[in-house]
Amino acid sequence: MADVVDPLWEASSMALSRAHLAEARRIGDELAAIARSGLLLPGSIVERSTTCGRPGCSCQKDPPRRHGPYFQWTRKVAAKTVGRYLTREQRDDYTTWIANDRRAHELLRRLEELGIEALEADPRSRSAP
Ligand SMILES: [Zn+2]
Repeated sequence: MADVVDPLWEASSMALSRAHLAEARRIGDELAAIARSGLLLPGSIVERSTTCGRPGCSCQKDPPRRHGPYFQWTRKVAAKTVGRYLTREQRDDYTTWIANDRRAHELLRRLEELGIEALEADPRSRSAP
C-alpha cells in the first residue's frame, strides 16, 4: 500500500513521533475491525444462583441446592445498575460483545495516553504559573 498522508495530519503543524503514528495506526486498524463487526455491548454479564422463601425448598436445605444459575446482563444507566435476564445461549453470544466493547475502550484510552505524552513532550508546553 502506498504511504498515504492523512489530510488531517497534513493540516497540523505538529510533529508526532514515528512511534506515535505507528502505534496510532495499529490501534486504528484494530478499533475499526471491532467497530465494523458491530458486536459491542456495554456492561457485564453475571451468573447468579438464588434461594427462595418457600418453606422446605431444597435451596434452604443443608447442603443447599440453590435455584439457577441465572444469567444477567447489567450496566450502569445514570449511576444506577440495571439488569436484564439472559438465556444461557444469549450469555454465550454476548460475552464476546462485551469483550469487544472493553477492548475498544482500552484502545481509545491508549490513544488518549499517546495524546497526553505528545502534549507533555511539546516544547511549547510550560508548567502552570
Ligand atoms: Zn427455593
